[in-house]
Amino acid sequence: MSAVARRAAAHRGPAPARFEGAGAESESRYRQLVELSPDMILVHWQGEILYANPAAARLLAVPSVDDLVGRRIVEYLELLEGSLADQLADIYRRRPVQRALIDGFRRWDGEELELEVSSSPVSWNGTPAQQTLLRNVTRRRRDEQELRRRQEQLDLAVSGSRGGMWDIELDPENPMGGPLRTYISPQLKRLVGYEPDELPDDFAAWRSHVVLADLPRFNAVVGELLAGLRDEHELDYRHRGPDGRVRWLHTRGRLYRDEQGRPVRWIGIDWDITARQEAVEAVRRSEDKFTTLFRLSPAVLAVISLTDGELLEVNDGFLAHLGYHRGEVEGQTVGGLGLFENTEEWGRLAAETRRRGSFQDVEVRLRSRAGAPRVVRLSGERILLDRCECLIAAGHDISGQIAMEERLRHLAYFDPLTRLPNRAMCERHLTEALERNALSGRRVGVLFIDLDRFKMINDSLGHGAGDQLLAALAHRFSECLRPDDLLARFGGDEFVVVLEGLRDERDAAAVADRLLASLAEPVEIEDTAIHPSASVGVALCTPEAVASDLLRYADAAMYRAKGRGGAVFQLFDGRLDGEHMQRLHLENDLRRGLERGELELHYQPLVWLADGRTLGAEALVRWHHPERGLVLPGEFIPAAEECGLIGALGDWVLREATAQWSRWRVAGLVDESFRMSINLSARQLHDRRLVERIEEMLERYDLPAEQLQLEITENVLLQVPETCQALRDLGVRLALDDFGTGYASLAYLKELTVDMLKIDRSFIRDLVYDPTDLCLVRAIVALSRDLGLEVVAEGIETSQQAECVQEIGCLWGQGFLFDRPLTGRDFEQRRLLKAA
Ligand code: C2E
Ligand code: CA
Ligand code: CA
Repeated sequence: MSAVARRAAAHRGPAPARFEGAGAESESRYRQLVELSPDMILVHWQGEILYANPAAARLLAVPSVDDLVGRRIVEYLELLEGSLADQLADIYRRRPVQRALIDGFRRWDGEELELEVSSSPVSWNGTPAQQTLLRNVTRRRRDEQELRRRQEQLDLAVSGSRGGMWDIELDPENPMGGPLRTYISPQLKRLVGYEPDELPDDFAAWRSHVVLADLPRFNAVVGELLAGLRDEHELDYRHRGPDGRVRWLHTRGRLYRDEQGRPVRWIGIDWDITARQEAVEAVRRSEDKFTTLFRLSPAVLAVISLTDGELLEVNDGFLAHLGYHRGEVEGQTVGGLGLFENTEEWGRLAAETRRRGSFQDVEVRLRSRAGAPRVVRLSGERILLDRCECLIAAGHDISGQIAMEERLRHLAYFDPLTRLPNRAMCERHLTEALERNALSGRRVGVLFIDLDRFKMINDSLGHGAGDQLLAALAHRFSECLRPDDLLARFGGDEFVVVLEGLRDERDAAAVADRLLASLAEPVEIEDTAIHPSASVGVALCTPEAVASDLLRYADAAMYRAKGRGGAVFQLFDGRLDGEHMQRLHLENDLRRGLERGELELHYQPLVWLADGRTLGAEALVRWHHPERGLVLPGEFIPAAEECGLIGALGDWVLREATAQWSRWRVAGLVDESFRMSINLSARQLHDRRLVERIEEMLERYDLPAEQLQLEITENVLLQVPETCQALRDLGVRLALDDFGTGYASLAYLKELTVDMLKIDRSFIRDLVYDPTDLCLVRAIVALSRDLGLEVVAEGIETSQQAECVQEIGCLWGQGFLFDRPLTGRDFEQRRLLKAA
């Protein structure tokens, strides 16, 4: 029995006509039924034919049924193969046999037949019998074999193309009831990862491996075929192999129908298209990625036809930056939209792209929908789209960046308060002006304007008012000038005017006059009428002067004007000798140094000679000049005094020293026996607000006045005794510095209202050798002690000197022997070491 037949037998319905029980009635009904059957039906018992239907006569090639009845089956049918005898024996033994395929019969006339046999016991006229139904399947079997052969041929043919075929036979009676027979070619099984015998020839089994997501499509195709909606189909679906691996199959099939249109056979080929599908998928994914990227990129992206400038595609970035809606752009041309501010620019870019294939980082000016200029840095490349030459362009809108640069430039070159050019811009302009005028024979002039008493206005009315005043004056000054003149704010209350095309000094002086006259009217600020005045220095270019020289000359002239009491202008007289020049340089540098924090305080310990304890420190200023390195006060204090910078410098020293002292106090490095000594210059004491400022500092840091010592020189004491008294009234101690170098004689001593004398180091230096000095110092110390004054010997460099002054009765000392002036940090370190 073949596998096909066996399975068919297992699946098919009940055996053919059978009847149980006797009775003429039932027999005649039975006869009626079987007479018409196309299949041979024999009822027999032990090989003897009891009944045969007409079909039996036809099959066995006898004239009529009568020739059969009463005969033995074997007379008509010879069993060819012994192996099948068992089956016939079964039949004879009244065991039911269903659709057994027996292909070894030979008919009495020699014809070999293949018969499908079903047999079951019946009772025949009351006696047991066997009913056998024989179907001649010779033709069908031959057809089947032929089909199989052709299937295999086909399979072989398609196997080269990674294909495999399948063939399904359907029951026309019941096409929906599942196939009668399924053939899945070994090649197809291998294609999806099976060995041929691992996967049954079973449609349902095959379908169970279809990837779930594709099953609806798969079923839909089957449904449409069976429902007669179509006969041919093509379908891509995924099939999961035994290894779990999913393969893409492309199936192509055709459904054949019988004359009545009922499906009988469905045959087709599946190809493995995994590789192709994966490639397609990969392309789709990368295209998706590209599309997404293109769409979402914040950059300005566009695909433009090089033939006619049509905007084929633009991204959201393009729309956002240029303010368009998609609909307004699509199908439009670059020219039609007026996209480029300069239409020739597009032509140039297009030509460049055609010629060289690409361009990089070209700054183009585009126009937004509203007509606003947009600066875009553009790169592009030529591409072919549907054989049309296109430009794919990517750009960054750098308008914001440019605006930012503009703003930064403004910040770098303009003063935010007055919106005037600043010092840097002024210097640049002046340099250019000098170059411009060098050839013309005309001259360049610089006016240096410095407001008088501006600091006072600032301090009394507040910075807000000060700013308003500066802005108001900037406006007034600019109204006195021609458009070509440059007015700059140099910083603080300084303005500079650069004039060009001057014939001589008189032209410049006229402008200076106008500027000063513009100050005649008071400036109204916060209900206060301010009467500003200014000092103006005027300098004209000389052939060899560069911008910085000219500015310095004007500055120097301005100081002369100030020295004359302000509210005037002064022409630079050109008589600056080397020393003056140096001084001028120094002043400028110092002013800058003060602004830039180039100053530092060092502290020299004040020593109690009896035990060497540090009971105080003198603050000594140092200047870290960017080019000259460390500069000592002897070099710049006199200059600072002369040019007036000493005020600011002195204030800074005062703030810095008290702040340092306060930190040391907080850190517990100094106690109430410690005194902080600060040097004051004559000019500082002329400023009446000095007392206030010192008071303020003491309050701010909560410092004890009696521990603050101010060092002044004797001429100060003589010039401004009231200020000195006011300071003493604060509780602050005064020390008379450099005692012995001035006019003060011992006779004066009792009239001097100070607490300490500092004997100048020139006396100490020669003390050991010079009896005169020794005598003098001895007298000073003795007298001082009588008067209750403390005495310090300055500049002690040797232990001999130290012993000597102690012998005389001097209790305090200061000098390199004990310590050089130390940085704040070194001083702390010293204190910590001593404490430890
Ligand atoms: P001064 O007030 O007489 O300060 C003492 C000077 O003597 C300091 O010089 C100090 O370094 C130096 N000195 C200390 N011990 C010795 C020693 O044993 N041998 C020698 N050869 N020199 C010693 P420095 O720091 O160069 O200061 C010079 C002057 O500058 C000071 O003289 C003072 O008049 C002035 N000065 C320093 N700082 C300030 C300040 O903050 N404001 C004012 N207005 N003047 C200051
Ligand atoms: Ca001093
Ligand atoms: Ca001194």
